[in-house]
Amino acid sequence: MTPSLYVSRINQIDAAQLDIEIYKVLKDQAKEIAKYGAPGKIDKWQAEIDVLLKFLIWKFSLQGGSSTFGQKLLNLHYANINQKKAVLYLILNVLPQYLKHKVNDCPSARGATAQRLQSLVDWTSNAISVLEFVNLLLFLHRGVQPRVIELLLNLTSQSITTHRPRSIGYSYMTRELLWHGLMELFTIGIPMINFYYLKHTIIRLWRRRNTRERVQRTFPVMNASTKCAYCDETPILPMHASCEHIFCYYCLQAHFTATSVYHCPSCDAELHAEDSKRYTLTSAVLSDDDEESDDSFEKVDSG
Ligand SMILES: [Zn+2]
Ligand SMILES: [Zn+2]
Repeated sequence: MTPSLYVSRINQIDAAQLDIEIYKVLKDQAKEIAKYGAPGKIDKWQAEIDVLLKFLIWKFSLQGGSSTFGQKLLNLHYANINQKKAVLYLILNVLPQYLKHKVNDCPSARGATAQRLQSLVDWTSNAISVLEFVNLLLFLHRGVQPRVIELLLNLTSQSITTHRPRSIGYSYMTRELLWHGLMELFTIGIPMINFYYLKHTIIRLWRRRNTRERVQRTFPVMNASTKCAYCDETPILPMHASCEHIFCYYCLQAHFTATSVYHCPSCDAELHAEDSKRYTLTSAVLSDDDEESDDSFEKVDSG
């Protein structure tokens, strides 16, 4: 059987993508090594390191053979590559990036010439981007030469093995999709569950079973030893809501954001959001006048 000339677009794009990924893996490793050197020392050779990595990839793939590593993984090769085209491939792959890097990084170059060079490089890289985009559209239409380099060198991909439709393990994909679905369900669903409300309901049920005594409502009194009924710290911006306990602004307000009815953790009194007030000494004095008959009210410790 003669190998089929047809190579699917997805295989060609995947081959190109794999080549980029292989390069990235090596580059990351190089960066990992550079991390332990003195800062800036290896960074200034970044352009040269990139060139070296690309050269090594090229040496072990296209120099001897007829396919890049990405193509090899997908059983593809360049049909019409020769030594000259392989060398040109390397130069085209390396040189533009290297020049751009050098011009951008050159700290000593100031003045009109450097500026002109800079704008030239910018213009060229923009032109290459446009060319890549046009080439992508052409590739989608014709199904050959996804990379600009391939277009310039007139390289075409061919399958090494006899053409077979690519077999993809869908069971793995299905599992992946299921997991994604589950994660999405959680990320959307969990914020809708009012955990505070559930927690308070459970705590209340537990409390009801243990202590059934009702507490009479009195006006709170704050002194130096008063602690927040929720967090047991000295209240910050003291608040109260129709029971004798004082809360931090945050502790009380956070609960009222979750549920409009909150049960005081100390006395189990039902607190409502609309009753919550800032605790001030004047309100304490005023309420002293109002609630003179209340025996359980304690005097403010003036000492
Ligand atoms: Zn608190
Ligand atoms: Zn209370």
